[in-house]
Amino acid sequence: MHESSYRFLEELLTAPGPSGYEQPVQEVVRRFARGFTDDVRTDWHGNVVAAVNPQGSPRIMLAGHCDQIGLLVKHIDEAGFLRVHAIGGWDMQILLGQRVQVWTAAGAVGGVIARKAIHLMKDEDRKKVPELHELWVDIGTTGEAESRELVAIGDPVTLELGVRRLRNNLISSPGTDNRVGVWVVMNALRLAAEASPKAALFAVSTVQEEIGLRGARTSAFAIDPQLGIAVDVTHATDTPDVDANQHGRVLMGRGPSLASSM
Ligand SMILES: [Zn+2]
Repeated sequence: MHESSYRFLEELLTAPGPSGYEQPVQEVVRRFARGFTDDVRTDWHGNVVAAVNPQGSPRIMLAGHCDQIGLLVKHIDEAGFLRVHAIGGWDMQILLGQRVQVWTAAGAVGGVIARKAIHLMKDEDRKKVPELHELWVDIGTTGEAESRELVAIGDPVTLELGVRRLRNNLISSPGTDNRVGVWVVMNALRLAAEASPKAALFAVSTVQEEIGLRGARTSAFAIDPQLGIAVDVTHATDTPDVDANQHGRVLMGRGPSLASSM
């Protein structure tokens, strides 16, 4: 990957965008798309639509959702710990012990996800998957008053953002589902623009996928495409304990998977 392309991906991955709170990442998308087309709009729902040759035919829409799963502060307890709702579907086991960022009006506040220490649990509780109400976010304050100075009810929370580069051109980062899809559709539009297409091409960074596939639907109404291609992540099956007979053979680094719907 070219270093400038990688930088765009890194910017996408380090801007917060839980479902319903996507505008920081959409700003990254708008800046990138304005580099090759003047026709970049944000609709009322928050979707960013970049167009090339919008009067052309046929009308083709490429879509990637920019939102990520997250948490939402719902309560600050007397000790100053933050109690949270889920935005989207979490594997609870993944949340335990994670470093997080609370996105307040004044910027990010760092915290960690805690629960009762294993040493203090009964045997049967150690084996259970915890529920979200049994976890809390500790931002290190001395009590409720200090937490309330920093954090408001309704502030969104993400895992601590940041990209780790692994060997063989691989990365690990929160939000790869689906900033990589946004990255693909915006770069596809950029490359297609260079070829002066006859078709009308629209690349859309859609919102609120993780809470009901919403933004792709609302933006498709406005664009009214004859053809639509959505880019999202899937599961590689060359990982331990995944049955290729059941899920097919999807190998890391060997290209995309295709699915169709009519
Ligand atoms: Zn996704």
